[in-house]
Amino acid sequence: MFPYLGFLAVDQLRLPLIPRTIRVTRCYNTRCTTTTTTTTTKVRPRRYPPTVVGRRYASHERSLSKEFVLIFTSYYYILLLLVSQPISTVMAEFMQRQSEILDYMFAREADARTSVSCACRSATDPAIYRCRECILLPPCCGKCMKLSHSHAPFHRIEAWTGSYFARSSLTALGYELCLGHDGARCPNATTQECTKLMVIVHTNGVHRLNVVFCACASCAQKPYQMLQSSLYPATWTSPATAFTFQLMEHYHLDSLQSRKPAYDYWALLRRLTDNTRAKPVPDRYEELLRVSWEWRVLKMMKRSGQALGISEFLPNHSNSMAIPCFACPIPGFNLPPNWKDLVTKDNRHEYTLFLGIDGNYQAVRKKKRHDPLDIPLLDGQGYFTNSTKYKAFLKRISANESDNHTSSCANLKSMKIFTRRKGLDVSGVAGVTCRHSCWRANSMVDLEVGEKSVYTSTPLGGI
Ligand SMILES: [Zn+2]
Ligand SMILES: [Zn+2]
Ligand SMILES: [Zn+2]
Ligand SMILES: [Zn+2]
Repeated sequence: MFPYLGFLAVDQLRLPLIPRTIRVTRCYNTRCTTTTTTTTTKVRPRRYPPTVVGRRYASHERSLSKEFVLIFTSYYYILLLLVSQPISTVMAEFMQRQSEILDYMFAREADARTSVSCACRSATDPAIYRCRECILLPPCCGKCMKLSHSHAPFHRIEAWTGSYFARSSLTALGYELCLGHDGARCPNATTQECTKLMVIVHTNGVHRLNVVFCACASCAQKPYQMLQSSLYPATWTSPATAFTFQLMEHYHLDSLQSRKPAYDYWALLRRLTDNTRAKPVPDRYEELLRVSWEWRVLKMMKRSGQALGISEFLPNHSNSMAIPCFACPIPGFNLPPNWKDLVTKDNRHEYTLFLGIDGNYQAVRKKKRHDPLDIPLLDGQGYFTNSTKYKAFLKRISANESDNHTSSCANLKSMKIFTRRKGLDVSGVAGVTCRHSCWRANSMVDLEVGEKSVYTSTPLGGI
């Protein structure tokens, strides 16, 4: 390998070549018997050896490129070892500096500037407030703190008590979150109904804020005013709780990436609000669950283009928000207009749609005692079929058959599951996938009585 080091370096720098004998130690062509040859001054190094043509020449090129990768990798790792420090060295340095680091961290627990007056020269208001989230903001008086956070209402505020920084809030300083006028209070918001103490959940915890709604003649309804200000209300009639858009985005991505349960996410927010649990934190776990479902549906409608009327421009005018398999043949989308004329005996597999159907008889759903009327959020626009059409189809089928939900097979596992688990609303699901393992849109159904062919054939046949 080492004779190539200088050889490749010369090639990279494009310097004049010197005739030399290079021993080819490895050739991947099994028929090649050449192991040693000589270069000439007129031949570029990567063209080596010049006398070899055809397959033999190609095999040598491949051999050289593999050698180059090997050498480059070796250089890279040697360089990495020289440049980077081992973890033990870094941790040893940390242990040496540990006390100094702690000193700097403890120094943040107090601030000598709280004893001097605020930058606004207020004689009555001492500079005892500081923000835990603003970077490089010196301690200031309550008025300056409120003013500097007119567009950052969810920052955590601390107040110096004389011996330590205690938790405070912008609400305690008289801060009001004013909607509709770019942060300024609406001149028409004079009545008490315009102001409401609300619980607002942000990525850094739960806040209680006085929200002042706009009362101008042209203003929107209160929930829509909140949406205009990037606040998602928990209810739509008389909202008392809201979630910031940042929190909804954060929770959406966090649940997708980390698979964290919503309860754990809420526990995190509760700890961010008050890790000591000295004061009760408003419990909005149920509201978080509900709005997260709504948020996902809204995001799907937005990203699929259905909210913008994309179905008008689709070949089949589909209103589905499910992701189709683009590898499967779809007439009008990824097939030529005359695809039927192109089908032959040898290539018909390219124009054939292969589908498979299977059921999961463990994915059961129990009957809901408190809320039996469950409402689908994507009724026929996702992977499950339209519930109204499906129920009508089942009614029509059951009227035409005399099946009393018994199976002639004594050992049918799915029937055993159903008979064993009483009180089930759904005894399983069945769905259709293509040969690329993609679920077909509008193809999944709930099974009600175990494995009956009429249910499992529904997604394939359509309703
Ligand atoms: Zn701040
Ligand atoms: Zn001030
Ligand atoms: Zn107004
Ligand atoms: Zn497919």
